[in-house]
Amino acid sequence: MAPSALAATTAAPADEAFAFARSLAADGARPAGSARERAGQLRAAARFRAAGLTVSYDRFAVPGHGRSRNVVAVQPGRSSCLHVLMAHADSMPEGPGALDNASGVGLLVGLAPLVAAAPDPACETWLVATGAEERLYTGRPDHLGASALVRRLRRQGRTDDVRWALSLDEVGRDARFDLYSPAARPRRAVEDAVLRAARREDVTVRWRRDAGTGNSDHRELALAGMPAMKLGVVDHPCRHRACDRAGQLQLGAFRRVTKVVVRFAGLPSTPRGSAGPGG
Ligand SMILES: [Zn+2]
Repeated sequence: MAPSALAATTAAPADEAFAFARSLAADGARPAGSARERAGQLRAAARFRAAGLTVSYDRFAVPGHGRSRNVVAVQPGRSSCLHVLMAHADSMPEGPGALDNASGVGLLVGLAPLVAAAPDPACETWLVATGAEERLYTGRPDHLGASALVRRLRRQGRTDDVRWALSLDEVGRDARFDLYSPAARPRRAVEDAVLRAARREDVTVRWRRDAGTGNSDHRELALAGMPAMKLGVVDHPCRHRACDRAGQLQLGAFRRVTKVVVRFAGLPSTPRGSAGPGG
C-alpha cells in the first residue's frame, strides 16, 4: 500500500482534512479553469480513489476562462436514496482560498474513508469536488460546477432520490457555524437533522435563511427542487483576500465540523479495518 493510502486509512478524518486543506492552500490560488484548480481536484480524486470510492468527472466550459470540471466520487448504496456532500475547489485569484474553500475539499477528503466504510445498505453517497463556484470570478449568475452537477442528476434520473445535498463552504475555522438554506424553516430530515446532530456533538450551529437564492453550490440544487443547504463559518474577514492563507485554518474547527457531518450523514466514526470503538 502506498504511504498516502496508508495515511488515509489510519489518521483521524479531521486530521486528514486539516492536512489536505493546508497543503492545497500552500500551492496557491485556484481560480476557475486554472491549472491549479485542476491539480487540486486531481489530488482530491486520487484520495477518493485510495479510499475505495469510484471517481468520475463532469467537464464544462467556464466562458472566458477555459474549462473546469467536477470530481464525483461515489459510494454505492440503495438506489432510491442519495446523499450529496459537495465542496468547491476553486478560489478567487487574490489568494489561495484556504478557508474558501480548501477547507471544504479537505473535509471531503477526510470523510472519504468513512463514506467508503458505510454499512450496507446505506443511501448512495456522492462526494463532489466542484469547479468554478466563485461567481465574482466567472461572472456567471449560477455556480457552474453545481449546474453541471444538476445536469448529471437529471441525466441519471436521480433528482427525486436526493434526500439532502450539503455544500461545505468555509468550514475550517472558529467554533460556531451557520447553516444556510432557502427553505422557509428548517425541514425535519434536512436542516433540522444537521442542527440536531450539532447539538448532540455540542457544536454551535445556527440555521439562517438564505438572503436571495443562496451564495454557494447548494443554490443550483435548491433551484432545481432538491433539498440543499450550506454549512460554513459565521464570519470570514479574509474572504476573497490574499490573507485567506493556510494559517487561517484551525484543526479544532475541522474536528467540530467532522463530528457534526459524521453524525448527520450517519457515517461510521472510523474507517473500515481500523481499530476504533466498536470497530
Ligand atoms: Zn466559497
